[in-house]
Amino acid sequence: MPTSAFVLLVLVLATTLGWALLRLRSQQRAVRSLQQAIVRQQRMLRENLPGALGGAWDALCDATSDLIDEATRLRELRAGHLAQLEATLGSLREAVLVIDGSSRVVLANQALQEIFPHTNRILGQRLEGALRSVGFLNCVEAVRRGAAEPQQEVEFVEGAHSTWVEVTGTPIPPLDGGKEAWALFVLHDITRQKKLEAMRREFVANVSHELRTPLSVIKGYVETLTDGHHEMPLDDRDKFLRTIARHTERLNSLLEDLLTLSRLESTSPGLRPESVSLPALLADVLADYGARPAAAAHRLHAAVDPALAPLPADPLKITQAVENLLDNALKYTPAGSRIDVEARLRDREIVVTVRDNGPGIPAADLPHIFERFYRVEKGRSREKGGTGLGLSIVKHIVQLHGGRAWAESTPGQGSAFHFSLPINHPS
Ligand code: ADP
Repeated sequence: MPTSAFVLLVLVLATTLGWALLRLRSQQRAVRSLQQAIVRQQRMLRENLPGALGGAWDALCDATSDLIDEATRLRELRAGHLAQLEATLGSLREAVLVIDGSSRVVLANQALQEIFPHTNRILGQRLEGALRSVGFLNCVEAVRRGAAEPQQEVEFVEGAHSTWVEVTGTPIPPLDGGKEAWALFVLHDITRQKKLEAMRREFVANVSHELRTPLSVIKGYVETLTDGHHEMPLDDRDKFLRTIARHTERLNSLLEDLLTLSRLESTSPGLRPESVSLPALLADVLADYGARPAAAAHRLHAAVDPALAPLPADPLKITQAVENLLDNALKYTPAGSRIDVEARLRDREIVVTVRDNGPGIPAADLPHIFERFYRVEKGRSREKGGTGLGLSIVKHIVQLHGGRAWAESTPGQGSAFHFSLPINHPS
């Protein structure tokens, strides 16, 4: 081959290789640009392609941009639907929870957040981390297997706080195209009902227990008297009848206190407010007690501010509250103890105090003594004719007047029972 021809061949080969390299680089840049456009989900213009790549690349660019547009539209549509769904669920009073195939929370409405206020940012969390309840996890499993009961009561425990929820669950097709079924739950807060049920059960158990002892004593003595009163010595008959009378009186007090409590707790507690002068009311109560044989062994003192202005209150109910406190002071302190009745103005309320220097109340019992049927010493209270309802009645009376009742005590030194009455409560 002549030298000139060889040089020409080398030149042509070099030019072709250079051109091919340039084109390859342009194509690499084009692929990168398309990849970035897809990642950023931004349309790509033909003009942004490196020059002179040809019609096929223009078509690829247009098709990719159309796909990006379509994906954006579908995303917006889905977001719109989810927003709509969220708005709809948000307006529901029922709490709604949707979890995906891997038990991640996909949707939780406002009502759910209200049931579980301590659980924040529940969305996206795994169920077992967000809402701790073995019962609920079992319920989720059962729903997935299609074996769930139509409605289930489930307890959620958060520290010392327990929430009871009635759950209805149903599996739904996965919205993410996955294989595992999603699940939708409607939750209804029944904590209040549960608490009321427990209170009712406890109350019925307490009342039955209180009734049982005097009734069985009365029954036993009546049977003995019925069978053998002819040959029974008069003294024994007398003793038996007195025991029956004492237990009948106990039943009577219990029923009286129960009726009083039930009236006070009803929607119409029968309050008859009028303008009451506390110094006069307390003087009457003390005069009455001073004349009772039960108070003879005690020293009663009054320290009532005579200038206390009249306040709106039901005088009979306030009298009952003071009497219950005085009865207790007499019942639970030994003969010779001192009992002080005080009343003074403090801010916008009058505080009445019944103080004694008796045995006092242990600190552990103090927060409970206003609860129904709570007694520090059960035997002693019953022996003294107590029903366990006296302080509960005081608390209710005072609350109906817009005030509150509380107690302070130093064991071995005495107790002070206080109640406050606002001076301008509309009773
Ligand atoms: P009870 O009918 O048993 O007296 P209360 O509700 O009036 O019921 O009182 C609840 C409990 O509080 C009593 O059983 C008694 O143990 C305790 N208690 C009340 N007042 C006094 C007091 N002044 N001193 C000591 N303990 C008291």
